[in-house]
Amino acid sequence: MNYKRLELYLWWKCNYKCIFCIERRYIDEFYDKKIEESEILKKLIKYKKLGYNHVTFLWWEPFIQENFLFALKLAKKLWYTVLVTTNGVLLPFEDKAKLFLSYIDELIISIPVVDEQLQSIINWVKNVINFSRVFENIKKYWKWKFLKINTVLNKYNYRSEVLFGILSLLDDYSDIISEVSFTYPDIDYGYYGRDYCKENLAIRYEDIRDEFQRLEELYKWNILYKIIDVPFCFLPSEKYIELTDDYNYQARLKEKEDGEIFKNWEFEIPRRRAHTLKCKWCKYLDVCWGYSSDYVRIWREKF
Ligand code: SF4
Repeated sequence: MNYKRLELYLWWKCNYKCIFCIERRYIDEFYDKKIEESEILKKLIKYKKLGYNHVTFLWWEPFIQENFLFALKLAKKLWYTVLVTTNGVLLPFEDKAKLFLSYIDELIISIPVVDEQLQSIINWVKNVINFSRVFENIKKYWKWKFLKINTVLNKYNYRSEVLFGILSLLDDYSDIISEVSFTYPDIDYGYYGRDYCKENLAIRYEDIRDEFQRLEELYKWNILYKIIDVPFCFLPSEKYIELTDDYNYQARLKEKEDGEIFKNWEFEIPRRRAHTLKCKWCKYLDVCWGYSSDYVRIWREKF
């Protein structure tokens, strides 16, 4: 059976206001807008008939949307493989973890940092998440297929000591974790503007390279991590050379709130990446999406 993935929004509520969030501008616009359960039902059935066999529930925080449990149960009834991306908000609570995890096949948890003080700066909240508890509950209540941890790099967490802190925690759970990624942030330049991006988000590629070199020296245990969306020419070693995204873009269809937008990814490089003239002769051209097209605007540097 062909792999075909549908991505569905459920609602627009989030418990965080992460400094790197590219959906922030929609908070006010969509906050009260609800997606009815009947809508979800229609979409899941429609795309099942069209051969879609994987569904991702994403944006904002799926676990706190009132229709989440309904959507999960329905997706499983229709034999979708269900992927959920979450910041982990409800997973430290045993009863919630037990309830939701039985309907989820694949899980991507965003962990920007482990340190509690930094968590509240990056996420703009007071109540921080105890990730050890999250993993204990996952071990207890989930028959996992795929668990990925994603850390969006930003000005507060890209230092090697901070990333080392995350890896040290994950190391205790390496038996259940399939993948760890450190990802260069997508940037909404138009919304945040240059100064904010420079201050909080867009780290120089050179700095990332140096910190990852240090991290390689510091961390020598069980977890294999990837660096995503940083041009390969800036990465420290061949070990990072892989395709830069988790899923095959050609097979993805994003259902957005404003109708059924079919994105034909085949002819464009996703996530606002761009190739330059220099890329033309590069040995990584086939696997690299190039640099973030906002990078030059922010740093005013020639790539
Ligand atoms: S394709 Fe371009 S951005 Fe990617 S590694 Fe090569 S030169 Fe760098």
